[in-house]
Amino acid sequence: MSTVSEQKPTSATQRGISTTSVHAGEARQKALDSITDPIVMASTFTFENTQSIIDYVEQKQERGEYGRYGVPGERVVEKKMAALEGAEEGILFSTGMAAFVGLLNAKLSSGDEIVFFDECYHRSRDYCRTYLSRFGVVTREVKTGDYEAMEAAINSNTKLLVSESPTNPHLSIVDLERFAAIGKTHGVETIIDATLATPYNLQPISYGVDYVMHSATKYLGGHNDLLAGVVLGSKEQLADVRKLRGIMGSINSPHNCFLLERGLKTFELRMQRHNANGMAVARFLEDHPRVERVFYPGLESHPYFETARSQMRGYGGLVTFEVKDADWKETSKIVDAAQLCRIAPSLGGVESLIEQPLVMSYWERTPEQRKEFGITDNMIRLAIGIENAEDVIADLTQCLS
Ligand SMILES: *Cc1c(COP(=O)(O)O)cnc(C)c1O
Repeated sequence: MSTVSEQKPTSATQRGISTTSVHAGEARQKALDSITDPIVMASTFTFENTQSIIDYVEQKQERGEYGRYGVPGERVVEKKMAALEGAEEGILFSTGMAAFVGLLNAKLSSGDEIVFFDECYHRSRDYCRTYLSRFGVVTREVKTGDYEAMEAAINSNTKLLVSESPTNPHLSIVDLERFAAIGKTHGVETIIDATLATPYNLQPISYGVDYVMHSATKYLGGHNDLLAGVVLGSKEQLADVRKLRGIMGSINSPHNCFLLERGLKTFELRMQRHNANGMAVARFLEDHPRVERVFYPGLESHPYFETARSQMRGYGGLVTFEVKDADWKETSKIVDAAQLCRIAPSLGGVESLIEQPLVMSYWERTPEQRKEFGITDNMIRLAIGIENAEDVIADLTQCLS
């Protein structure tokens, strides 16, 4: 059974999503007549003569110069991801965190302020709290979904509103129309980290969000074999981000770009399976007597179900749940019993993963901090892959028995 709202258009391009992910950004006839983009292992690029340098500097010709400013394979995946997102421009980074840090650093100066919803990837929170503050940027955290608090936290120095949707690991959903409208009303730019949604399930730019970022390490690459990140938006708004990336040097190797391009070809197929599997596993867990609570935005019981249904095509493979009357050790036993699901952090790859957030990501935090972040002792996070749902459910059945 599915509650997926398949009518939602998710691509601003004229062609279908798979057609876009297979072909967009690629030259029809490539070097050496190869059907795939070759891996170009070069740190620098040669010019025929002085005039060709001048043509390049005057931006009359798109080509390579020096590897830190971008390699050929990178431009292809940037264009492909921009096409999938319905964005004018995409800028690839070496990791999702490099994309987040690069975007914020390009946009913020000492004295500026940002407001962000508190449920977010723990490293993004660390960066805002610990590092941005060292450079004189004031970061204000408000409760996820409290739009009044977000609006109240805005003042004349506020430059950015930041959120994830869905959030990790609680899968809370931000009402993008509302979020973008607050930004527009106050003349403040908005960022959505849509890693958990992907452009298949959510198109933040169509709601007026300024910047979308993804950890391409997750569903976009899709095979647990690479790290990458991407920032998407308008060419004009991202010009300074590209400049800063050229200085930071947080680029991808040609081989990494090849893997990402290859992974993207099957993006829609994988997402359809992740969505179906995520829903099947969430429903299975919701009916299981040992399960206290399931966090999955496709379930009617989820507090943000209506918002999710109105703006998403599907809900992805991340499913979080709490075990009934279990302390952290009993919860660990369930994780350790897994035979098919692999014990690992991350999400969005073909392999199903299982982990206990308390141990994997919050072990060094105090109980008070864990409480603040909503990480309970009996919480398990699943990142469902593309295996057959019956097999994943069979594994979870034996884990819970
Ligand atoms: C994984 C993740 C990141 C960080 O991406 P990396 O590629 O690991 O640097 C940021 N945001 C979200 C929501 C993530 O899941």
